[in-house]
Amino acid sequence: MSILINGGTVVTSEGTLNADVLIVGEKIAAVFARDASTATSVAADEIIDAAGKYVIPGGIDGHTHMEMPFGGTFSVDTFETGTKAAAWGGTTTIVDFAVQAKGTSLLATLDKWHEKADGNCAIDYGFHMIVSDVNEVTLKEMDTCVGAGVTSFKMFMAYPGVFYATDGEILLAMQQARRTGATIMMHAENGIAIDQLVAQALAAGDTDPVYHGLTRPPELEGEATHRAIALAKVAGCPLYIVHLSAAHALEAVAEARDAGQNVFAETCPQYLYLSLDDLARPDFEGAKFVCSPPLRTPDHSAALWRGLRTNDLSVVSTDHCPFCFKEQKELGRGDFAKIPNGIPGVEHRIDLLHQGVLAGQITLPRWVEICSTTPARMFGLYPRKGVVAVGADADIVIYDPAARQTLSVATHHMNVDYSAYEGMEITGKVDVTISRGRVIVADGEFTGSAGHGSFLRRALNQYLV
Ligand SMILES: [Zn+2]
Repeated sequence: MSILINGGTVVTSEGTLNADVLIVGEKIAAVFARDASTATSVAADEIIDAAGKYVIPGGIDGHTHMEMPFGGTFSVDTFETGTKAAAWGGTTTIVDFAVQAKGTSLLATLDKWHEKADGNCAIDYGFHMIVSDVNEVTLKEMDTCVGAGVTSFKMFMAYPGVFYATDGEILLAMQQARRTGATIMMHAENGIAIDQLVAQALAAGDTDPVYHGLTRPPELEGEATHRAIALAKVAGCPLYIVHLSAAHALEAVAEARDAGQNVFAETCPQYLYLSLDDLARPDFEGAKFVCSPPLRTPDHSAALWRGLRTNDLSVVSTDHCPFCFKEQKELGRGDFAKIPNGIPGVEHRIDLLHQGVLAGQITLPRWVEICSTTPARMFGLYPRKGVVAVGADADIVIYDPAARQTLSVATHHMNVDYSAYEGMEITGKVDVTISRGRVIVADGEFTGSAGHGSFLRRALNQYLV
């Protein structure tokens, strides 16, 4: 089976090119430069007209939580519904998190997550491993995980009593990671101090969702980020700060990067487009916007855009973690600390960042770099993923930069009962999504299937200095 994508503008992290793309089987077989006077005359089983559209590498979302257990409930997208929604939004690879429960082994956890995902994903997928129980067995198992293609381990300085790890435990895991070259991913907020502020707020009767944000000040994200960087330096391991939201944390990352340390960071669309004002919406509406770290004031968003331009922030992932407003978010009525943390977003990342291109905040090639090429390198998937180039997997999105759409729960494909971006008007829309040579979204229809997606054994981070 071969497909010719005709007449489009190929956008890569390096620039734009008028070119036609030939797919044979699951791979990109040729990229033909085109000038105004020539048309590519190549036989193909199917021809897709991409005139006036961008042809970009499929998006890679390095931070999702499908079917994630949280406080007796689960995030509501399954691997099937979540990966289908991702495909609608032009994402062709996710890296999700396997979650070690205390008292269980990493390898048993990995098996369990394979069981959840295998045969159910519409696009390709990999795993990071959440380490919540550091002990001798777990530390040894980290090396086995790396051999099994799980090359990054997430730890938490937040959530005491749940995922929280002490500085000593973090140091031990970092030393273990150093031996294989694996990356430690960090949720960097000072959870011990935050818990005191939360208890004080609740005792004072301040129970509305906005207090979720006010009890997690940016200074405590900055402090934890700085501490994580120091621990990683002592241990000598690569560090990746997840969902960075505060200018204070960005400063710490920039300083470490300037000094040549292997420190990287991502932010998420919600920190670029939403704010503390959304958390303060009346009638418990603010619960829809509860995530950690919290949404912040617009000056932080401006700093994050700048960080994306300077590459101190090199990736935008979604931290997609959908909980319904009814019955799930509502668990926290009268106590903001009981609101499940998370915002749905896997479907909208590429569209939202395209608004940044239109607003002049990032360039068109930088859009592709942030959404696809850098995550491919960061998570050890390049050059199989993240590029439109001969030999790469044919994960391609044809994007209509002029189409208009309005984001809404009425039209999105995520399995959740609200949109964090309800009513937002967007310019640009995915026209066609191709995953490993198969058209999975076209003409407003999903044509893929659960089980098409396969597990990706990932190599190490490809940016290490
Ligand atoms: Zn997360």
